Amino acid sequence: MLTAKEIRESFKSFFASKQHQIVPSAPMVIKGDPTLMFTNAGMNQFKDIILGNVPIKYPRVADSQKCLRVSGKHNDLEEVGHDTYHHTMFEMLGNWSFGDYFKKEAINWAWEYLVEVLKLDPNRLYATVFEGSASEGLERDNEAAGYWEQYLPKDRIINGNKKDNFWEMGDTGPCGPCSEIHVDIRPDHERAEVDGLTLVNQSHPQVIEIWNLVFMQFNRKSDGSLESLPAKVIDTGMGFERLCMALQGKISNYDTDVFQPIIQHIASMAGVTYGQNNQQDIAMRVIADHIRTIAFSITDGQLPSNAKAGYVIRRILRRAVRYGYTFLGRREAFMYQLLPTLIEVMGDAYPELQAQKTLIEKVIKEEEESFLRTLETGIRLLDKKIDEAKAAGKNIISGVDAFTLYDTFGFPLDLTELILRENGMEVNIDEFTAEMQKQKDRARNAAAIETGDWVIVKEGDSKFVGYDQFECDAEILRYRKIK
Ligand code: ATP
Ligand code: MG
Ligand code: MG
Ligand code: MG
Repeated sequence: MLTAKEIRESFKSFFASKQHQIVPSAPMVIKGDPTLMFTNAGMNQFKDIILGNVPIKYPRVADSQKCLRVSGKHNDLEEVGHDTYHHTMFEMLGNWSFGDYFKKEAINWAWEYLVEVLKLDPNRLYATVFEGSASEGLERDNEAAGYWEQYLPKDRIINGNKKDNFWEMGDTGPCGPCSEIHVDIRPDHERAEVDGLTLVNQSHPQVIEIWNLVFMQFNRKSDGSLESLPAKVIDTGMGFERLCMALQGKISNYDTDVFQPIIQHIASMAGVTYGQNNQQDIAMRVIADHIRTIAFSITDGQLPSNAKAGYVIRRILRRAVRYGYTFLGRREAFMYQLLPTLIEVMGDAYPELQAQKTLIEKVIKEEEESFLRTLETGIRLLDKKIDEAKAAGKNIISGVDAFTLYDTFGFPLDLTELILRENGMEVNIDEFTAEMQKQKDRARNAAAIETGDWVIVKEGDSKFVGYDQFECDAEILRYRKIK
């Protein structure tokens, strides 16, 4: 059986043998781009090359990119721990051609890598192709389908709609059809009963997308029309943890050697056995997932904080701490102790983990301890409110209470909502928003008085006072809007 490390290496050496330059992962944290806080796909670091803003250094590159999908267009946070194949942080293996090769090589090499190099069973693979769009005057991607037909019977080449099989960078700019490879990892008897064909794109946990091949061949102009792109681009992304699952014969990413050492470490700390109790298992999966996100955010320059990207990380950390507290009886900081195990699993590929180990441990430990100081009282308060609501026959908690939890006990809104969901309840969001607004007004008034006493108030000063709080509000409300 190939180990995760061997699989990652084999990808790089395969594409190196096809004359690709192997480049390092870009940081997972993006600084200075107002449109994106975290890298959410392999192509992010090549955006300027694709847009023609910078010259092409290497026409063919490949890498393994650290990605995070917890905000914006891609937010997989709530799936994590519950399904078997979405993570917050994951590695995306990718190969690119900037004006060099196109569909033929991209498809042939994807097939060669999966079937000839890795020996995935070709009978378990499906490909999707863009079905076309009459309103846009676009035909089915018969070119891609033709290449797939060299390997797959026609009935395992599935038409997909614009949502799944046409990629666009934004409202304008490069775009084009894509082809996804899906793999059916169900046991033989289940495959005999139900054809995997009917399960592709149905969110079946064992018939899943592993690789997306994007063929950027158009440029969308500001009037919405499409023109042909002079330098066509190949942009592919394969979920590394999913590939490991398929190759290691597992039915969950968490059962691979990418996650098992971390899960076993958590289980031994908590004195429980993984696979015995559903809620404990979810908690262990969530923690194993979240420790990766937090550790890599720190190495890549984003500490937990009250603002923007920092608050996203703090929310994730507090979420993990609470899972440990409620389901695994963790009363003291424990996440930071997972670092040596994480380094064992990922340190080879990402030496920044070892290099910054002390810092990561210190930051996580302090964050854990500070939240644990208020967590217990907060949970008691919330439990009381839940009981009261239940007694009154209600399934909603007032926004004032949620705000107290947020403001006094450091419960991010989504954490309160998560706990309430476990009890079939929700928060009155309008009330919460109103409380937030009142707090903002109070801060603004206080700022006006304080600064007015002894300095001349310049324009813009009042904006800065309470910066953290304002930024933090904005993040919460933005998060709600996106959801
Ligand atoms: P899905 O439909 O499963 O959510 P996607 O279509 O959103 O995946 P892409 O944007 O096409 O994913 O990304 C390329 C590849 O990255 C996917 O084919 C998948 O293997 C992997 N991937 C995407 N999201 C995640 C995630 N949250 N965790 C792990 N792997 C992921
Ligand atoms: Mg997705
Ligand atoms: Mg998809
Ligand atoms: Mg996809």
